[in-house]
Amino acid sequence: MNKFAFVDCKTVDEALGQLGDGATVKAGGIDLLDLMKDDIVFPAKLVNIRNVDSLRGITVSADGLQLGPLSTLSEIADHPEIQRSYSALSDAAGHAATPQVRNMATLGGNIMQRPRCWYFRSTDVDCKKKGGGSDECHAQAGENQYHAIMNNSTCAMVHPSSTAVPLLGMDAQVELTSKRGKRMVLMSNFYVPPEKSVINETVVQPGELITGIFVPAPAPGTRSAYQKYGEKESFDWPIADAGVVLVMDGALCRKASVVLGVAAPTPIRSKAAEAVLTGKTIDEATARAAGKAAMQDATPLSQNGYKVQLFQTAIYRTVLLAAGQMQRDPSAIG
Ligand SMILES: Cc1cc2nc3c(=O)[nH]c(=O)nc-3n(C[C@H](O)[C@H](O)[C@H](O)COP(=O)(O)OP(=O)(O)OC[C@H]3O[C@@H](n4cnc5c(N)ncnc54)[C@H](O)[C@@H]3O)c2cc1C
Repeated sequence: MNKFAFVDCKTVDEALGQLGDGATVKAGGIDLLDLMKDDIVFPAKLVNIRNVDSLRGITVSADGLQLGPLSTLSEIADHPEIQRSYSALSDAAGHAATPQVRNMATLGGNIMQRPRCWYFRSTDVDCKKKGGGSDECHAQAGENQYHAIMNNSTCAMVHPSSTAVPLLGMDAQVELTSKRGKRMVLMSNFYVPPEKSVINETVVQPGELITGIFVPAPAPGTRSAYQKYGEKESFDWPIADAGVVLVMDGALCRKASVVLGVAAPTPIRSKAAEAVLTGKTIDEATARAAGKAAMQDATPLSQNGYKVQLFQTAIYRTVLLAAGQMQRDPSAIG
């Protein structure tokens, strides 16, 4: 681990004043400290925002849900109003990691965590994502069992954030603040595909701070669900996860949002699955057809073909769970 300065901030202005010149924001520190201990990143200065009170808090109003970026995964999972009206978000937060991690992990840090690709996380290999001059994605012909099964021709990493899945499905927006002012970024524009930048996973620029996450109020009849599947029935990142938001009129689906996590380098919506569900009665057949449609463009690598079947099942079950036609799948992990 490199030597670094540590600055504890109490206000957003103080934190913004400290950013720049190799400084990195530190929230809970769970991912950042791992990356530093593994010699993957070398920030000259950590700007600790954990004591910036204005970045805390969860507010539910008629307009929607306002989340401070320091909201912990536990606070989001346990919030009765989020459980009731934004179930997929409380499910995703509540089934990530372990209780100890969820007590420390913040929402801002969760959507900003770096990929778990073992080639990216290893100091023994260089890869194009590290920006050291290599043009290789070792996962494409290497150990790729946890990697992307879609959009994987440039870099096969997957984004590991579980909360990003429902946030994308619910049309959330992220507020970014810098010395130049504020901008709102739709979750659908927040992650950057490797074809646009293989180095940066998000549109967040140096000197910018996430100062809020806003989820619009759900339309009447909205129901949502999230489920995560993993290799073991314990704490781990998902190998497949799905978030489904349905606007229902009785058994009829008026609008559907189907999001796949860890299928591609960014969380993605499946327009094909949404088209299958929209205007239809939700039942086992439509849910199964949605799962199949979502995987029609899959391009699995040598060792991750199993994820195609797993995603079809995850979508099928999560659609039925969202529609109130199935209980939470006991084989989903968390
Ligand atoms: C055993 C284990 C299992 C896990 N399983 C899961 C899982 O299933 N699903 C899942 O989603 N995650 C999982 N995680 C990851 C964990 O949830 C994240 O590491 C955590 O949410 C990061 O939050 P943090 O506050 O600690 O962020 P930090 O480590 O402090 O920061 C992470 C990154 O975000 C940036 N950042 C943080 N806050 C801001 C801000 N406000 N503005 C701009 N940049 C910011 C930092 O600069 C850094 O780059 C797991 C972790 C562990 C250890």
